[in-house]
Amino acid sequence: MKREFAVIGLGRFGGSICEELSQQGMQVMAIDSDEERVNKFSSIASHAVVADATDELVLKSLGIRNFDHVIVAIGDDIQASILATLILKDLGVNKITAKAQNDYHEKVLRKIGADNVVHPERDMGRRIAHNIISKNVLDYLELSDEHSIVEIAVNEKLGGKTIIGMNIRAKYGINIVAIKRGNEIIVSPQADELIKIGDVLIVIGADSDINRFEKKVL
Ligand code: ADP
Repeated sequence: MKREFAVIGLGRFGGSICEELSQQGMQVMAIDSDEERVNKFSSIASHAVVADATDELVLKSLGIRNFDHVIVAIGDDIQASILATLILKDLGVNKITAKAQNDYHEKVLRKIGADNVVHPERDMGRRIAHNIISKNVLDYLELSDEHSIVEIAVNEKLGGKTIIGMNIRAKYGINIVAIKRGNEIIVSPQADELIKIGDVLIVIGADSDINRFEKKVL
């Protein structure tokens, strides 16, 4: 069965989620209180409706409860974002992802039961900062306040060694979960796998340990 999504708020963030989900062949209902925005999405999403997401009756009449996943992408109007999330939760929506504007907003969204809270500007800022600090850090995904997954380009210092030879688990407490080599991806590589220059290591661990590894090795 095709999964069904609803995206509330069709600004830059919600709009791009809506476009991408539609492009991936998903059923998407696009919702916004602004008619012009909704019109833009009428040919992209499966359905596009003008609706105020802070109105419980309206959300009920859209059958929002039956969607597998609802994304609350209301931008600056924090009050509307919180109220919409609360109503969705009350109506028993299976999964809610909400966009937070700041840390307090994030806290409230979590408290009222949003399953997933995203903070795109902050997260992207952090990723870019990591890229800027070290040209070997290609990408960065925050798992929690203290843990991340990082993609590290293998340079001359790392290349030519085996995983066991680098001894990174014992020395730094971090793990290589995969190696990208051209188009190939080696998942859970063996300890005797030879690391080559140009490989990309995908490592997981505590931020402090990953930082130590970055500084020492890169
Ligand atoms: P972004 O930063 O992602 O561009 P915007 O603030 O531009 O975010 O977009 C948020 C969207 O949410 C706007 O299109 C706005 O009309 C919509 N929106 C705001 N309040 C509501 C509401 N109560 N119900 C539905 N849509 C809303």
